[in-house]
Amino acid sequence: MNSKKKVGFTTSFPVEVVFAAGYVPVDLNNIFINNDPVGLVEQAEVNGYPRNICAWIKGMYSTIINNNFEIIVGIVQGDCSNTHSLMSTLHDKGLEIIPFSFPYDKSGKELKCGIEKLEEIFGVSHSMVLEVKSNLDRIRRKLIRLDELTYIDNKVTGFENHLWLVSSSDFNGDPHKFEIELDDFIREAENRKSLKFNFRFAFLGVPPIFTDIYDYLLEMNSNVVFNEIQRQFSMPYLEPDIVDQYLKFTYPYSVFNRISDVQQQLSLRKIDGVISYVQSFCHRQIDNILLKKNINLPVLTVEGDQPGKLDARTKLRIESFIDMLEQ
Ligand code: SF4
Repeated sequence: MNSKKKVGFTTSFPVEVVFAAGYVPVDLNNIFINNDPVGLVEQAEVNGYPRNICAWIKGMYSTIINNNFEIIVGIVQGDCSNTHSLMSTLHDKGLEIIPFSFPYDKSGKELKCGIEKLEEIFGVSHSMVLEVKSNLDRIRRKLIRLDELTYIDNKVTGFENHLWLVSSSDFNGDPHKFEIELDDFIREAENRKSLKFNFRFAFLGVPPIFTDIYDYLLEMNSNVVFNEIQRQFSMPYLEPDIVDQYLKFTYPYSVFNRISDVQQQLSLRKIDGVISYVQSFCHRQIDNILLKKNINLPVLTVEGDQPGKLDARTKLRIESFIDMLEQ
């Protein structure tokens, strides 16, 4: 393998292994959403992807094809049921696919085997991986500070919080540069005045395909002070053992793991209202039934389909939800 090789991946997995091997891990979702996402979805449809399949899957497909990734790590269990078929269409194009699975039953033994297999494929020792993990954990500690600046000091907007946490899935491919920029951001944010807003919101679910939902909430005097899944991507657990770290990651396992994390954070962060975001055609919409059932706060389910700005109907629903909170 060439040391400059980029390794695309479909959701957070032990990127420590990829960094240890000297390659650049690239979260395909982040590339898709920041580079003409509408065009990428259309491109996948022209290539035969059905209209009623999640836009993120179509976006990742086109992102991979356009960027000539030679290695793709497909998280085939614990992320998305569509990933299997995505991987098949990529295999058909001659791409090298490495599957990774989070065990359905959260078995530490199986997860350990999966990580060891990755280490073998990438030709790295476990101690090399732990060394990378210790460096990344130093940055993750700073992301915890950024999160505190959001929900304790009220100095960071929901969008800024989203962007930093979501980007930590791959540290933008360069942890050193990421850390310098993060240090600068934290320094700047610490010197800000606290934001003034009426309502503290939680954003649950996969990151939004809407580009302006956080800005719209701020316009409505509401700030998101808890980004659930983005925070999970930032791995704030700081477990010494890498297996324990990826067992604490709630996203790939049963929704009940998510529920206990969410309940804890809603109370810690004194949340007033919850937006539970669901993506059109996503199997995780079913999890939303249980999330809503187990949250004792007002919850608004917001569904996104295509990338772009909020549509008028969704804006109106958010506005009515905030009116209801005011009353
Ligand atoms: S939003 Fe749902 S359907 Fe779409 S890629 Fe993510 S898990 Fe899969």
